Amino acid sequence: MGVQQEEEGCGAVKRRKVAAAAADVTMDLDILDCPVCFHPLRPPIFQCTVGHTICSSCHDKLPDKCHFCSLPTVYNRCHMVEHVIESIKVSCSNANHGCTARITYYQKEEHEKGCPHAPCFCPETSCDFSGPPVMLVDHFSSKHKWQSAKVTYNKAFRMRIQVGSTVLVGEDGLLFLVNMMLDSLGGVISVCCVQPHNTGSKFRCRLTLSCAEPSCSQTMEFLTKSTNLYDGLPKVCFPFLVPKFLLRGDGTSATAMVGVMLTPQ
Ligand SMILES: [Zn+2]
Ligand SMILES: [Zn+2]
Ligand SMILES: [Zn+2]
Ligand SMILES: [Zn+2]
Repeated sequence: MGVQQEEEGCGAVKRRKVAAAAADVTMDLDILDCPVCFHPLRPPIFQCTVGHTICSSCHDKLPDKCHFCSLPTVYNRCHMVEHVIESIKVSCSNANHGCTARITYYQKEEHEKGCPHAPCFCPETSCDFSGPPVMLVDHFSSKHKWQSAKVTYNKAFRMRIQVGSTVLVGEDGLLFLVNMMLDSLGGVISVCCVQPHNTGSKFRCRLTLSCAEPSCSQTMEFLTKSTNLYDGLPKVCFPFLVPKFLLRGDGTSATAMVGVMLTPQ
């Protein structure tokens, strides 16, 4: 009889779990934030004798007075709220870009800082396209007709750079934008690495320009700036100048033959 009761008990618990998993719950996410610093609550969580809950860093700053009732208090760990906080999973903000992660609410920000599905943006001012880098390559070629080329790292190659943007796709799928603008002295070339987080991979870029007549050459090496292009092409980049007499063609159809090498750091 005792065993049977236990089995029934277990079944009831299981049924409740299934019901809870399927339940459609709505919740005001603000209540998951510390009422003092407004950061998401994460264990350990403390509550005053009345029941006001605060995060551990606020607790450490005010260990014996409640922020809310301003009364002297003895804080205790609030395990129930900790369980609730741990059990609430939310979607990543990049769900619409393909991220399927379900994240504990207080870990959402950390996840999104490194989420591989975070979007990059089209740098054209009149275009509001955003998407993961792989979609960006298609967008650049289909919408803006930018040329693209595959590159092997640590290997120098020569390319004809046009006015505007040229896309380089690294062997690991990383994107680089080579941009040439014209100014009174010639073509100004800059290179940036397009990735969702500027904490991502770092690359050193070497650009070389050489000419037989008159005999001259110049080489420049720099760390490429990483950007998700949210603010367009980076304003501060190492510019590489191609003098006017080394450009082929005029105006927006001008091109420059430049040696390029990308080296992962
Ligand atoms: Zn706090
Ligand atoms: Zn209180
Ligand atoms: Zn994500
Ligand atoms: Zn675009």
